[in-house]
Amino acid sequence: MLPKLYDKCSPMYAVTELVEGESSRKIVEMICRIENNSGHIESVFKVHNIQKRLAEFEDYRETVKIKANMLSKKYPRCLADGNELLRFYGTTVACSLGLNGSSSLCSMEICGICQILCDGFSVQKESIGVFTTSTSETAIAYIDELNEIINQSVRCALIVCRVIAGRIRRPSENFRKIAGQSGGFDSLVGKVDRHCNIDELYSLNPEALLPCFVVIYRP
Ligand SMILES: [Zn+2]
Repeated sequence: MLPKLYDKCSPMYAVTELVEGESSRKIVEMICRIENNSGHIESVFKVHNIQKRLAEFEDYRETVKIKANMLSKKYPRCLADGNELLRFYGTTVACSLGLNGSSSLCSMEICGICQILCDGFSVQKESIGVFTTSTSETAIAYIDELNEIINQSVRCALIVCRVIAGRIRRPSENFRKIAGQSGGFDSLVGKVDRHCNIDELYSLNPEALLPCFVVIYRP
């Protein structure tokens, strides 16, 4: 079935719902590993990227590889695939997307998920890049903070993304200063977990992200 297109915005991405029990939905649920005590999954959508966006993502990968090839120190993963990682992006859902089978997008400023599906990712004010996490847990904690800021308990969305991390700058000290320079790196570490996994990552270029699935859950 062709993904539905929307009239309220000209979406960068279209979504179709994966029904409960479907094998791809089970896999997404497994990837997200939302524990019962932190909420329950309401719906899962597969994201259909428009051709232009897919091409930008692949072009970005090539740019990262070319850049990596020019560095004196070689980073094998960057040279191979641009250092692609599976990451989580947490945001809010203020509209009825996912309720009673709804897949309509809204244009409310408060609705984080529809903004991304309509306009794509962007670097928010006060941030140095697009923020993603290695676990759904950290992404959910981030949404909780957002909810506190807007002083509303809205529904939440996790976007499962493919991210071309490229050359990663760590540690993150002085990253604001570093971000202004044309250094040979593509993303910055915010925080590492106790196993030294990069839990929080900032991608300097929004083209580095390609959303694959949207999981809507209620805390
Ligand atoms: Zn919305």
